[in-house]
Amino acid sequence: MADFETPALREYPVIPLIQAGTMDHSKSYVAKADHNTPLGFPGELVENWEQKAVDKLGELVSKSRALQVFLDSCVKCGACTDKCHYFLGTSDPKNMPVARQDLLRSVYRRYYTFAGKYFPKLVGARDMTRDVLDEWYNYFHQCSQCRRCSVFCPYGIDTAEISMAAREIMDSVGLGQKYTNEILVKVNKIGNNLGLPGPALINTLEGLEEDVKDATGVDVKYPVDVQGADVLLVTPSADFFAEPHIDGLIGYGKVFHASGISWTMSSFASEAGNFGMFIGSGANLHKVASRIREAALDLGVKRIVVGECGHAWRVAYSFWNTLIGPFDFLDPRYPVPQHICEFTYDLIQKGALKFDKSANDDKVVTYHDSCNVSRASRMGNFPGGQFVIPRAVVKAAVNKYVDMAPETIYESTYCCGGGGGLLTDELLELRVKGAMPRMQSLKDVIEQHGVTHMATICAICKAQFTKIVPYYKHDMGMIQSVHGLVSNAIRLGAVNG
Ligand code: SF4
Ligand code: SF4
Repeated sequence: MADFETPALREYPVIPLIQAGTMDHSKSYVAKADHNTPLGFPGELVENWEQKAVDKLGELVSKSRALQVFLDSCVKCGACTDKCHYFLGTSDPKNMPVARQDLLRSVYRRYYTFAGKYFPKLVGARDMTRDVLDEWYNYFHQCSQCRRCSVFCPYGIDTAEISMAAREIMDSVGLGQKYTNEILVKVNKIGNNLGLPGPALINTLEGLEEDVKDATGVDVKYPVDVQGADVLLVTPSADFFAEPHIDGLIGYGKVFHASGISWTMSSFASEAGNFGMFIGSGANLHKVASRIREAALDLGVKRIVVGECGHAWRVAYSFWNTLIGPFDFLDPRYPVPQHICEFTYDLIQKGALKFDKSANDDKVVTYHDSCNVSRASRMGNFPGGQFVIPRAVVKAAVNKYVDMAPETIYESTYCCGGGGGLLTDELLELRVKGAMPRMQSLKDVIEQHGVTHMATICAICKAQFTKIVPYYKHDMGMIQSVHGLVSNAIRLGAVNG
């Protein structure tokens, strides 16, 4: 399959011995001018980039007290060193969170601290050089911004924020990453990350209506651009075409159908994902999110519901209000935004949905908590809702459910290995190796409880897992959308759907 070794899964998880430089070669493609300039970045590495990068770092630190505290307060206690899935999977010490932070911290110290200016060697301060920049590019694109390390740091230092700052600096001097920037250009031009134009989207959804009618005998609709619908659903564009994502979309439609609540998608805002977050770019984050506000106003909806996408939910839950709010034009009786799992859960609580769980009796299901949902957002109106609600939805639809080891779920969940702008083929080795800790805990429940399927509510997790589970000798069909399970079990009137 590829010329790297898939990490061995063991009887018990093992912290690897350090192997320096094992991932030095891992480099994602650099963005070209036409991926950079439409986003407001220089087309290529600018003249005098060293000084400009240092100036940008100073600007970011002066604007963000959190970033300054993160850079100033690490005491090198080592608590984070074995918490990153990329270190556990690659053994490369630069993938230890503290070492990753130090790539940026060393430059910050050199230019912005007294000790670093006058005694650089004593405090590990470094000049901004081409070697340093290349190291930043490689290793800040080996961080999925999952925030697992921050859970274990006694000071709460968030490496994801440092990684976002480093990427923001690199973009500002013309060294962007192709995968992320190209997608941002696409969403701005066409409305979604896939570059699927409106007519093709409508075609796809009409085809889906026919498929669901054939399978269930029920006229479930997948409406687009319906003026005055109650709900605008924004979902990751992967839901429109790939498995298991599309099973989730089929499930959302069935839930809306069963609820009797009118809904629509938008051909203008046909993307919930927002890669602006991955590159720390407030301007791009705002531009992508604004499409959703505009669509909600144009369509005159009362509520906005977000489909299964981890980072999209973080952006919606944590940033929308200040980024594209206020939402005073929406119905105040409902949360803004609302997650599709909250929407389905509320209906389940009210007894408004009926399930035949035996439709999923060929499966023993476990659930993978997605990083951005677990550690950067919430759901429902009670603490821990982001863990309880998706599980409650799964359990409403299946009879056989098992959790993975407690130290690998909830807020301690392991990243899938493909988040944060790393879901690109040239990083496949990193992705396969970074998935090792999650594959280890999956192996344990397969062996101990006969688990056959793993469900999740993140488009990136689904795309990453379907790609990498074959490296660990599993069938890609084991990965499920939560609403795909709902779709199998929900009863739609007289005919089972
Ligand atoms: S944020 Fe996640 S990927 Fe990045 S260093 Fe921390 S644990 Fe690793
Ligand atoms: S756990 Fe926090 S303080 Fe300790 S080494 Fe890691 S980042 Fe530094």
